[in-house]
Amino acid sequence: MANLPSHASPYFSPQPPSPSNQDVGDISLNSSDPTTSLLKEKVEEFQGYDSPVSNPDQTNGDVTPSVPACLLSPSFTPPATPGGTLNPAQILQQTQAQAASARETSANTKAPKLLPRLPHVECIVRARIPTTNGAEMFLHLYHNDLDNKEHLAIVFGNHIRSRSLDQVRPGETEMDRMIRGAYVGKLHPGRVSSWYDEEKAEAAAKERAAEGAVNGAAFDQTQSTQSSPSQAPLVRIHSECYTGETAWSARCDCGEQLDEAARLMSLPIETLSEVASQQGLSVPSNSAGGVIVYLRQEGRGIGLGEKLKAYNLQDLGSDTVEANLLLRHPADARSYGLATAMLADLGLSNDINPHGIRLLTNNPDKVRAVEGPSREVVVKERVPMVPLAWSTGGKMGIKSSEVEGYLQTKISKMGHMLQ
Ligand SMILES: [Zn+2]
Repeated sequence: MANLPSHASPYFSPQPPSPSNQDVGDISLNSSDPTTSLLKEKVEEFQGYDSPVSNPDQTNGDVTPSVPACLLSPSFTPPATPGGTLNPAQILQQTQAQAASARETSANTKAPKLLPRLPHVECIVRARIPTTNGAEMFLHLYHNDLDNKEHLAIVFGNHIRSRSLDQVRPGETEMDRMIRGAYVGKLHPGRVSSWYDEEKAEAAAKERAAEGAVNGAAFDQTQSTQSSPSQAPLVRIHSECYTGETAWSARCDCGEQLDEAARLMSLPIETLSEVASQQGLSVPSNSAGGVIVYLRQEGRGIGLGEKLKAYNLQDLGSDTVEANLLLRHPADARSYGLATAMLADLGLSNDINPHGIRLLTNNPDKVRAVEGPSREVVVKERVPMVPLAWSTGGKMGIKSSEVEGYLQTKISKMGHMLQ
């Protein structure tokens, strides 16, 4: 400790220990706390609703037609991202909303939920990540007031910056700012200012001198934190899929989609135009940069454990939608308010970005969901993502009978457009 440099932070502010991995089911429902009691009531009300035990005469037809009550699991979808500690007020609000919507709809296969207001998000830290394909990206880690998961934004290009990250925090030193990633340009040994990259400024000044230009202010646009994209950037909202991204699963195409989104966002513009002209396709250019919002909502929001149960049901003959309904989850329990709030924080909201965004998705419902309750973000264009196996006639991409069935269900039951 005694060897800390003089510009080091004068104090440390440790995070309070977080009761991580606490699920809804883990919350003590026997507490005397009034909020918890109310929550208990609501949870019981929701669990009791339509349960085969409490309503022996009911056919459950409004949830899963033609499924005998004895086959239905009594579990229910956690009202927020699984695995996180939860904000009790939000849980109450969402549990009520879920119970109401469960009464209203049967199939519930479409229309991702719109939160009544955008959650508050804050970028805690950002770091440069060189990638295995040669491109660089900036990984942004966010906290929010909805759950305690660390959601991420993967940012390609230098013009997209987080407003909450760049904000000056009381008492912080220049070193603090650089450690949490709130700097312009590049870090290098010996750098002392977060606001001014002297190596970059010198290089720019030399370039100007070589061009015979007047030696003007070296503090050019690349030094500013205020720069904004000159056109609509590519955006992909991706939900965590442990099996597809990490465990080589061929049951879905999540890993391939994540790779493809990153590839499109990191390709040089010339390569993209070349590919576009060769294939006669409109391949998106990435000159405006790109953002992959990576939401930690595993298994369409139902969590990894429930997703694995759904896989077993699929092996027993159900498709992906039926399996979720049999487990008493909606076909899609995801919500996108966090994504909208993160995009707004990255300067892509209406108020400062007149270009809108281009959303990489095959799901038309996602367009409206990502725009937010008051259209805080505007989707100018939907850019489809054709599975590699289809666009290459089976030469590349995932090959499995499971993924074919999965894609067919996406088209026939979830309104995806894979053209
Ligand atoms: Zn997946």
